Amino acid sequence: MEAVVNDNGPVLPSKGKKRTWIYAKKPSGSFYNARQYVGYSLLLFLFAAPFIKINGNPFVMFNIVERKFSIFGNMFFPQDLHIFVFGTLIILVSIVLFTAIFGRVWCGWTCPQTIFMELVFRRIEYWIEGDWTQQKKLNNGPNTDARAWKKMLKHTIFIAISFLISNIFLSYIIGIDALLKIITDPIDSHIGGLIAIIIFTALFYAVFAFVREIVCTTICPYGRFQGVLLDDQSLTVAYNEERGEPRGKQRKGENDEHKGDCIDCNLCVHVCPTGIDIRNGIQLECVNCTACIDACDAVMEKINKPKRLIGFYSLGQIEGKKGFKKSRVRHIIYAIILCFLMTGFGFMLFNRSLIGGSLLRATGSTYQIREDGTVSNLYTLELINKSGKEIPFELVPEDRKLAIQLVNNVGKLSKDGSAKISFFLIGEKGIFEKYKTDIRVQVVSEGEVVENLKTTFISPSGS
Ligand code: SF4
Ligand code: SF4
Repeated sequence: MEAVVNDNGPVLPSKGKKRTWIYAKKPSGSFYNARQYVGYSLLLFLFAAPFIKINGNPFVMFNIVERKFSIFGNMFFPQDLHIFVFGTLIILVSIVLFTAIFGRVWCGWTCPQTIFMELVFRRIEYWIEGDWTQQKKLNNGPNTDARAWKKMLKHTIFIAISFLISNIFLSYIIGIDALLKIITDPIDSHIGGLIAIIIFTALFYAVFAFVREIVCTTICPYGRFQGVLLDDQSLTVAYNEERGEPRGKQRKGENDEHKGDCIDCNLCVHVCPTGIDIRNGIQLECVNCTACIDACDAVMEKINKPKRLIGFYSLGQIEGKKGFKKSRVRHIIYAIILCFLMTGFGFMLFNRSLIGGSLLRATGSTYQIREDGTVSNLYTLELINKSGKEIPFELVPEDRKLAIQLVNNVGKLSKDGSAKISFFLIGEKGIFEKYKTDIRVQVVSEGEVVENLKTTFISPSGS
């Protein structure tokens, strides 16, 4: 990777070079205003979602610890893995399609990392330490009391916000009720939860106070995939080189007939949070935040030139390609795949059983001959309630020649609860010709078969 240079020196380290701290100029303009609307609405949603419940279930929850997931109030369990695989594929294909069309808009406009960094943490920094030049002066200046106070205030607020984010993040994993329990119960009854909150707080604080743009330019795999996902029809933030070059400062009375529109003011570089110069071409480090578009538009307005010297352009537009491109076909193929996946996902979701179960013949057991001459097999059944409400149920063998004898009688499944049931299946001797026969046991609730579980019945063959 080549180092990109602004007037602060190299801002992105080449291999072996030291990182140079990026002082991004405070952005302003119509794109920035729009980003604020989008960003703050998403933040509001992020903080409100854990408190929203549908049918008593969290709106969104990814409880990897207890292997329980809730999406729009629908509970999912490991038994729904196939639905999850489809859901994950839909997300992946959507990202590929969205990126192929709109480039890295996700990064600059909706990614939580960018929203927190640019619209929360950096704004606090501007508020306490001033704009980029004042921040630079403060950091390079003497160690005064005023500087110490400013730094202390900034980092205290950063830690407090990181703590808040950490709590919200945890509520997406364990649910808001469990989080409130950790907060309100005595500390020693939730040491694990407390440690998790402290670790997440430290992690978020480190990311937003120190690591910053390196997350986007180096750590995040999505950014590294851009080269493969973008094509000549993808929209990206780009500099119109044909219009802007040859660049040069505007001087009074000078004939600038042969000059391009770029007056080489470097404002587009100063506002860039990843420290790149977009005039060097499309770069992986660009998160499409549009701050440089706003900065350049303001300059163009001042010098009475049309806006969008920097704007959203496709590679094809920049290179002057015309006509129906191969990449359009690629987009259509992605869209068709997405439609198929969504149809399959919808079908599975719609036909999803409200009760999940796994039925196994008792480990190591074969058949038993009872005193009355009948044959029995012992089974263990595990049921999970995914419906979000209490469900009464009974077990019925599909083959009515078999009878059920429950070892432990469980008549209903509590909301989000599970049950372990042991039972015998009993049949007349000679009921089946084979030693091992496939059979099914139905879980019936209010007259409806809600789950049909497959297992085998062993009996003395040919008897
Ligand atoms: S080049 Fe422009 S759009 Fe890209 S990250 Fe920098 S300021 Fe944002
Ligand atoms: S802000 Fe516009 S005019 Fe100024 S250097 Fe960047 S591209 Fe050129």
